Amino acid sequence: MSDLDCREFVELVTSYLEGSMDAQAEQDFVDHLALCDGCERYLDQMRRTSESLAELPGDSIATDARSALLDAFRSRRG
Ligand SMILES: [Zn+2]
Repeated sequence: MSDLDCREFVELVTSYLEGSMDAQAEQDFVDHLALCDGCERYLDQMRRTSESLAELPGDSIATDARSALLDAFRSRRG
């Protein structure tokens, strides 16, 4: 008996998505996934979240904000 409960599942989702799980843990994880609709949905949601985060260029927002600020300074001194 090595069944996961839902709380353990949630704790393992990140490792699963990173592929950093050992084979036994992954087997337990997949077994739970097959039995539990709630966790299947949770995994799906987490996977989408991590994909959309990965698509964001790391510091584009900060860079945009900084150049907007520099433009504002320049036009003020103009
Ligand atoms: Zn579950």
